[in-house]
Amino acid sequence: MTQELAPEPAEVTPPGARHASGTVLRPRPELRIAGAQAAVDLAAAERAAAGFLAALGVDVDRPGLRETPARMARAYAELLDAQPLQLTTFPNDEGYSELVLARAIPFRTVCEHHLLPFSGVAHVGYLPGDRILGLSKLARLVEHFAARPQTQERLTKQVADCLAARLQPRGTGVLLEAEHSCMTVRGVRALGSTTVTSAFTGTLSTDAPARAEFFASAGLPR
Ligand code: ZN
Repeated sequence: MTQELAPEPAEVTPPGARHASGTVLRPRPELRIAGAQAAVDLAAAERAAAGFLAALGVDVDRPGLRETPARMARAYAELLDAQPLQLTTFPNDEGYSELVLARAIPFRTVCEHHLLPFSGVAHVGYLPGDRILGLSKLARLVEHFAARPQTQERLTKQVADCLAARLQPRGTGVLLEAEHSCMTVRGVRALGSTTVTSAFTGTLSTDAPARAEFFASAGLPR
């Protein structure tokens, strides 16, 4: 169920689309990320869930558990349901050059090692170039890449790389803080411990003051 980025649509220059500097824009108005999702077979998932529980010695015939395989199937289908995403962008007519940051975007996904949930918040920001992004799209981007079995490291990188490639900002910063239930309810049972991952591109990767501003704006120490 891998999902690939759709090729960018052919560029069309709308009449009169000029940047404040006078240069003609190369518009990328709809940066589409296709969700080439395999068809979901809920009935097969329900049968498999019933078999899985039975193999673990769970009596799925007792009242209260009878509907559990169907609920498990629907719950995981929902967790893995990546919606196609349109990254609507706008010309940066005002020449806004400071950091744009969406703080503490809540997300949830499942770890690919145990298929147990991990959840937390994402801070996603960029230093605008020729175009800016609809603000809700930063949250949609995280949601999109979270809807598949993940590692926190890959999720962080996918959001940063997609933003960098599609929006072509001067810099991109993504920081995720998450609690992994596979670490808190099993294994080492490190209740309350969180994992932090980050990815930076462009100026936010090379320029320490710019990165410090990212941390400060996100309300994080550093
Ligand atoms: Zn895990």
